[in-house]
Amino acid sequence: MNDTHWTEAAETATETATATKNARIEREDRKLEKRLCREVGRAIADYNMIEAGDRIMVCLSGGKDSYGLLDILMKLQQRAPVNFELIAVNLDQKQPGFPDHILPDYLGKLGIKFHIETQDTYSIVKKVIPEGKTMCSLCSRLRRGILYRVAKELGCTKIALGHHRDDILQTFFLNMFFGAKLKGMPAKLVSDNGEFMVIRPLAYVPEKDLIRWAQVREFPIIPCTLCGSQENLQRKQVGNMLREWEKKFPGRIESMLGALQNVVPSHLMDRELHPFQTLRTTGVADENGDLVFDEEELPMPPALPAEQIISLTPAH
Ligand code: SF4
Repeated sequence: MNDTHWTEAAETATETATATKNARIEREDRKLEKRLCREVGRAIADYNMIEAGDRIMVCLSGGKDSYGLLDILMKLQQRAPVNFELIAVNLDQKQPGFPDHILPDYLGKLGIKFHIETQDTYSIVKKVIPEGKTMCSLCSRLRRGILYRVAKELGCTKIALGHHRDDILQTFFLNMFFGAKLKGMPAKLVSDNGEFMVIRPLAYVPEKDLIRWAQVREFPIIPCTLCGSQENLQRKQVGNMLREWEKKFPGRIESMLGALQNVVPSHLMDRELHPFQTLRTTGVADENGDLVFDEEELPMPPALPAEQIISLTPAH
């Protein structure tokens, strides 16, 4: 074999390895697309989020989550058992440096109905909130009012938001840690003005899948730091805590999301939810009743390292 043969053999080997790698990535991406459609479809069905004739305003911020939401809803729209309409809406809040051509260009190419609402809430917030204080609460209040008005003008029945599974759990822990409340972020709710149904079709979708999907689809992401607001440190810390847990105890996040769907009010302490004050014995055995003195057997996750197995039984 001369030098040329060696070079050709090396090139062929490299090409084969690259082709194999590309095929593997394509396979993974197809699986991801299927998973995203399945999880969004499951949430829509579980919470009856979309009905025939709905006109849904999809709020698009330019971040990975809202791009992913619109993308998956458009895919599902083609195969859904009912007809519904999607209208993408972006609120341009006139933050400095906001690239206002990106979303119209993207949406124009998609061929979907869309509306860009331009309202300079940035200047209002800057004027009202003292330097260094967090602007988010006023900013989001203004945004909410504008979006309700736009939804009404567009004749929308529902408003779809891009919050995902990890947002929901972060909110749950933030409310517990800092607000002393057992309260998450519902997958479906009636807006505070009573006029719209707000839906979160990504409620079952892990954030990591949306990160990857944004890369696969090459969404033209608009950075979310343009307003100059300080990062919500508490949310960041809770996000890190959840990621750490998931790393140490795979499946914990799914289990926690399951817990939010499986609430036992009689075993919490909210006197509004359960009539503790007026509780009476029945004298009748209940095979599903609470075995007061027994420790509840909890399934352990498979193959945990010994040092990570913690006691799940109450202390005596
Ligand atoms: S991060 Fe900026 S744009 Fe978002 S709510 Fe806060 S102030 Fe408004």
